[in-house]
Amino acid sequence: MPELRQNFFTREWVIIATERAKRPKELARKQALKEPAEFVANCPFCLGNEDKTPPEVLRVPAHDGAWQVRIVANKFAALSRDAQPVRTIHRSRRAVGGFGVHDVIIETPNHAHTTALLDDAHVANVLRAYKSRYDELSQDPRIAHITIFKNHGLDAGTSLEHPHSQLIATPVISSQVRGRFQVALQHYDEFGECMFCQMINEELMEEERIVLATEHFVALEPFASPTPFATYIMPRRHMANFGDISAAEITDLARVLRKVLGKLYHGLGNPDFNYTLRSAPAESHGVRYFHWYVSIIPRLTRVAGFELGSGMFINTVPPESAAEFLRNTKMEIAVGSGE
Ligand SMILES: [Zn+2]
Ligand SMILES: [Zn+2]
Repeated sequence: MPELRQNFFTREWVIIATERAKRPKELARKQALKEPAEFVANCPFCLGNEDKTPPEVLRVPAHDGAWQVRIVANKFAALSRDAQPVRTIHRSRRAVGGFGVHDVIIETPNHAHTTALLDDAHVANVLRAYKSRYDELSQDPRIAHITIFKNHGLDAGTSLEHPHSQLIATPVISSQVRGRFQVALQHYDEFGECMFCQMINEELMEEERIVLATEHFVALEPFASPTPFATYIMPRRHMANFGDISAAEITDLARVLRKVLGKLYHGLGNPDFNYTLRSAPAESHGVRYFHWYVSIIPRLTRVAGFELGSGMFINTVPPESAAEFLRNTKMEIAVGSGE
């Protein structure tokens, strides 16, 4: 029987449509992808093309004297560092000057790589680069919120094949983020505990939606998963902001992130996906009611009229089946990994 489930974090309803259930294999990419080249002459992110990007903000050097990770300003930035975040209110029309920071994190010099195929140490360096920028920008009083995200593949909104992620720091907090924050605060006031910590503990006890669990992180399919294979990676330790992550936790997160993406890569044929780091706004350091996590959304189905009109999603893969499928998907050995 189908079931309506309520998302614990957003309070939004989701229809888990078991009657229309699809087997995970039916959602997998049917045709093998064309192997990309390791170097593409006109790709601005490839090794040797460093002069084709805006100035570098950060570089993680490689052993051979080149680089492993670079952060540069986005050439087509959505917001400008030179604008002033000045607010204007004319009756119903409200605006803020387009101040903000838009970085590109070039994750590897190799055009053909993807996170699932990097080694753990390399993924850890990408995460350290995220943290370094996150920490620095959190100090800027003009910045209200920082979103770190990755678009992989055309259906996830990127046309640039070279592995990269992005960071956008905005002078305002969206009502979506505010809304979730309110739900979390209300839960804390009512029950005296972090709703995320509560959920992690419950899911670990029930086990059926767990993909994998390590010393510091838990990867799971949420109970009211809005789309097939939506996966959260949540730190076991309570932390409101991504910037609070410890050195040992970064090493562990790199392993977990690569493993989960590797399972999606091998199990579903390199699906397009987005991941985002959902962290508390910069101004809310150390709050007890919000808990950061990584949200991975594979783009296996399209958002259609019902979702747009009702705000409710129909998910044709129950999260319990998705978790079981991912638990059973074997990882091939990646370069340099200890598996
Ligand atoms: Zn490239
Ligand atoms: Zn918590």
